[in-house]
Amino acid sequence: MTAAVLYGKEDVRIEQRPVPKPQPGEVLLRIGAATTCGTDVKVFKRGYHAKMIRPPAVFGHEMAGVIEAVGPGVTRWIIGQRVTPANSAPCGKCFYCAHQQPELCDDFTWLNGAYAEYVCVPARIVELNLQVVPDGLPFEHASLAEPLACVVKGFDMIQLAPTETAVVIGVGPIGLMFVALARQAGAHVIALDARPARLALAKDLGAHEVFNAAGDAIAQARQASNGGRGPDVVIESVGLPATWEQALALVRKGGRLQLFGGPPAGTQVPLDTQRLHYDQLTLLSSFHHTPAHMRRALELLATGVVPAAKFISRTEPLVRLPDVLRELSGPTDVCKIAIKP
Ligand SMILES: [Zn+2]
Ligand SMILES: [Zn+2]
Repeated sequence: MTAAVLYGKEDVRIEQRPVPKPQPGEVLLRIGAATTCGTDVKVFKRGYHAKMIRPPAVFGHEMAGVIEAVGPGVTRWIIGQRVTPANSAPCGKCFYCAHQQPELCDDFTWLNGAYAEYVCVPARIVELNLQVVPDGLPFEHASLAEPLACVVKGFDMIQLAPTETAVVIGVGPIGLMFVALARQAGAHVIALDARPARLALAKDLGAHEVFNAAGDAIAQARQASNGGRGPDVVIESVGLPATWEQALALVRKGGRLQLFGGPPAGTQVPLDTQRLHYDQLTLLSSFHHTPAHMRRALELLATGVVPAAKFISRTEPLVRLPDVLRELSGPTDVCKIAIKP
C-alpha cells in the first residue's frame, strides 16, 4: 500500500508498505479520507510527537473509511461498513477513568496512520470508539468528528447562554467550530483573527461581528460587548501566551475564559491576582475528547448543525501530502485539506 512515512523534521516520504493484517479484536480500515490538522503540521515541523509518534512512522489521526477485513473475535463489525475511528480510546481502569475524566486517561491506546491506504484500528478503539458513518455523510466530513469532539467538550464546559456574548480569539478550524457552536447556542458571537479570509469564513459560519487582530481588535471587541464592559465569555483558540493574555484582559468582570489553545511547553503567562480575584474570573481549559463527545460530534456533522463542507478547503491525493504539509507550515488561508489515497 501507499503510505506517508514521517522520518524526522520536515521529512515525510511516500513509500510502499505491506498492508497490515488485523490482529485479534482489530479491524482493517481502507481509508476513504483523512483531514489535515494543526497537530499534524506541528508533528511535521518537529519530526516527532512526544506522546504518540516515534519516527519512522505513519501518522495522521482524523480519518474515515470502509472496513476491509476484521481480525479474529470481532463480531460487531462487518466488512464493507463505512466507519470513523477516534484517534484514542481510554483504558477504563486508571484513576482518571474511574473519576469520569477519561480524556485524561493515564493509559490511552492511540491511533495514528490516517495518511495511508489502510490502517489497522486497535482492539480497544474498535470496542469503545469506532462509529458507523451515517449514509450520505462523505468520509472527509466524518473525519472532522475528532477535532469537533474536542471542541464540543470545551464548549460544554462554558455553559454559554443565549443572552451572552462570546468572543473567539483565533479562527483556524478549531476557532471556527467554536463560532458555529456558539451561534447555534443563540449567543452573540464575535471573532478575532489577523487573516481576512478566516474572518470571512467566521462570518459565513455565524459570527455577528469580526475584527482584524492586525488592528486594535481587543478594544473593538470590548466596545462591542455588554455596552463596553467586555464579553461574558472569551475562547482562546490560538495557543500562544500573548493571546492568552489578551483573553484575560478582554473578558468582563465575572466572565469565563476557555483557554483552549495549547501554548508551547515551558511558556508562562503572568496572572494579575487582583483581576483574577476581585473581578471574579473563571478559568476553564479542556483537553482532548471522550467517546461520548465523539458520538455527539458525528451527529452534529450528520445533521448539518456544523456544516462540514465549509471546513474543507480542497482535496489532494495522498502522494501530495509532503507538499501540503509544507504549505500548511507557513502562513495560509487554508482551513483543512482532505487527503485521499
Ligand atoms: Zn486533529
Ligand atoms: Zn484510563
